[in-house]
Amino acid sequence: MTDDISKIKLCNRCKKEKSIDEFRIYHTDTFYYEGTLKYHYERYDYCKECEPKKICSKCKEEISLFDFYKTNKYIDGRTAWCKKCIDDYYEENPDEKYKWNKDYHKYYYTKNRERILANNRKYKRKKKQEKLKRIRREAKKNKKKEIAKTN
Ligand SMILES: [Zn+2]
Ligand SMILES: [Zn+2]
Repeated sequence: MTDDISKIKLCNRCKKEKSIDEFRIYHTDTFYYEGTLKYHYERYDYCKECEPKKICSKCKEEISLFDFYKTNKYIDGRTAWCKKCIDDYYEENPDEKYKWNKDYHKYYYTKNRERILANNRKYKRKKKQEKLKRIRREAKKNKKKEIAKTN
């Protein structure tokens, strides 16, 4: 993000130069790096005023798309209720939140299936090698014991 140096950024929609703080930082992609989940962050091209908006079907307020959770259930990729309405709802209905989390994990898994499987294979191979080493070590130790006994 080279534009951070100047602290000024041009909005791609209203074409006004604004302070960098007027542009939201959001994560565009998730990836694994050395076994941990990392996020790739970027600053949005539109200032906060120009962000795409959507009307929450619960509180009926028109707010930024970023204030809606991501989902695979709707065409625009966002939930029908805003984050605040969803958070409030799940606070009152914790069982529902569990169900929603499960759905989200399923969605994440199908989207990142190949990557997750590759990581799992790597992990399994490592575990297998460790197990083999341990078995060999044990076998060596036992052999020594056997020799000691017979002598
Ligand atoms: Zn703007
Ligand atoms: Zn709402």
